[in-house]
Amino acid sequence: MHAAAERTDVLIVGAGISGIGAAVHLQQQCPGKRWLIVEAQSGFGGTWRTHRYPGIRSDSDLYTFGYRFKPWQGPPIATAAQINAYLGDVIAEHGLGGRIRYRHRVVAAAWDGAAACWRIDAVCSADDGSEQPLRIEAGFLWMCQGYYRHDQGYTPHWPGMEDFRGPIVHPQAWPEDLDLAGRRVVVIGSGGTAATLIPAITDTAAQVTMLQRSPTFFITGRNANELADMLRRLDIPPEWTHEIVRRKILFDQAAFTQRCFTEPEAVRQELMAGVRAALGPAHAALVDEHFNPRYLPWRQRIAFVPDADLFQAVREGKASVVTDRIERFVEGGIALQSGRVLDADVVVTATGFDLNVLGDIAFSVDGAPLDFSQCVTWHGTMFTGLPNLAWVFGYFRASWTLRADLIGDFVCRLLRHMDARGAQAVVPRLRPQDEGMARRPWVDPQDFNPGYLQRGLHHLPQQGGHAPWLHTQDYWTEKDELPRADLDDGTLAYCNPRSGPCTPPST
Ligand SMILES: Cc1cc2nc3c(=O)[nH]c(=O)nc-3n(C[C@H](O)[C@H](O)[C@H](O)COP(=O)(O)OP(=O)(O)OC[C@H]3O[C@@H](n4cnc5c(N)ncnc54)[C@H](O)[C@@H]3O)c2cc1C
Repeated sequence: MHAAAERTDVLIVGAGISGIGAAVHLQQQCPGKRWLIVEAQSGFGGTWRTHRYPGIRSDSDLYTFGYRFKPWQGPPIATAAQINAYLGDVIAEHGLGGRIRYRHRVVAAAWDGAAACWRIDAVCSADDGSEQPLRIEAGFLWMCQGYYRHDQGYTPHWPGMEDFRGPIVHPQAWPEDLDLAGRRVVVIGSGGTAATLIPAITDTAAQVTMLQRSPTFFITGRNANELADMLRRLDIPPEWTHEIVRRKILFDQAAFTQRCFTEPEAVRQELMAGVRAALGPAHAALVDEHFNPRYLPWRQRIAFVPDADLFQAVREGKASVVTDRIERFVEGGIALQSGRVLDADVVVTATGFDLNVLGDIAFSVDGAPLDFSQCVTWHGTMFTGLPNLAWVFGYFRASWTLRADLIGDFVCRLLRHMDARGAQAVVPRLRPQDEGMARRPWVDPQDFNPGYLQRGLHHLPQQGGHAPWLHTQDYWTEKDELPRADLDDGTLAYCNPRSGPCTPPST
């Protein structure tokens, strides 16, 4: 049985970097609104709480991965512990703690058009494992639940896995007591997770091998920001330093991103030259075989390797790289298609995430189950057929939080606009001139194509052929366009249940 439903104006789902940021924006820009955060885990942090593998750190700089409203004062690349401390400070400084409900997993969300509200079913779990159902009614849903399953990572199945006599560990479920001392470890994968984990375990393990199916682009640099260091020496206030350094980083990133499209081969050579220099002359021959990806630069995330620690480990002979395909697992390791066998005591599957849709919540709209893949997005944050809901999905080629801040401003502007119009519901609606437009996937695979997206793209909503139905993934245009998005151009339908039920047309 549900206890009496609690009622709130805005329900934020998820207490990761997006959800905590959403709460601050709401508190500052819509001070009259009641809000709550519900979070399935027992604490805040999201990604930075879930992942506990050795060495876990950001691969974006924290000047742009941090919020625009909270200066970052540490080294650009931060550990999960530093990011969580930063988030903890934000919660304390803004007094958010009392409104975050931990161990509350949302399982269903039903839109009731007659009442213009979401009825949320959550399960509240206790220390002893017991669970209690709970109902919350919310005017608006601010989905900050991320994009992947937090309770499991993605591990492909390979023949013979059951024959392997050692542990097979996914970094997302790193056992606290896993002892790697003196053991031979094979890490499958070469993305950001593998690049982070490998240098963190080479001093303990006897031997570490990065086994990749195909190469990844890496970029190296010092884990320091000269401009920030100089501004600090000049005793410039932290808020100024944060803003100036953000602008400089974003300026440089815009130029780099543009070059990846206008002169991709030149960028490829530069990135490979960086790796060659980091590996040193004795290992330079490895670059063509192991660090020359098949894709063009920035079609997948470029893993930043601070202080070149991964390459240092290779240089010192503590780690090695193998590019090959897995034939099968055997008792003592992994047999490769080339015929080679990699001996292993432990295998780490740094093979990515399991993309999920809207937090695995069963959504319905006036009794009809929602098929998210049939929705068309409005500016990559709202969706046709889904009233009073915004989703924070960050950038691939820039820090996630830049978009979380932009969407924060947008949602607050929309909520104020609804109040001014006396509307209780808003839903994106295709105009007659939009009906026939070409539909495209949420992210164009030609533009950005990491494995987890390709595996899950068919579950995600579509984008259209023109604004506002685009999901551009381009911070540099969106930073100007989203704040100016016309809320009265006919693509958003407003409703008040006093003049009839707020039931969106089917998508
Ligand atoms: C290892 C790793 C490193 C990364 N590094 C970077 C980086 O350096 N730079 C960058 O820009 N991006 C990075 N990313 C992407 C990263 O996920 C985002 O940048 C960001 O942390 C996402 O924040 P979020 O709050 O939107 O979502 P998440 O961090 O995924 O948090 C979502 C929260 O919602 C909760 N939740 C989900 N479903 C429900 C539900 N049904 N009910 C209640 N609660 C729910 C989850 O428990 C979780 O706490 C990284 C991702 C990973 C996995």
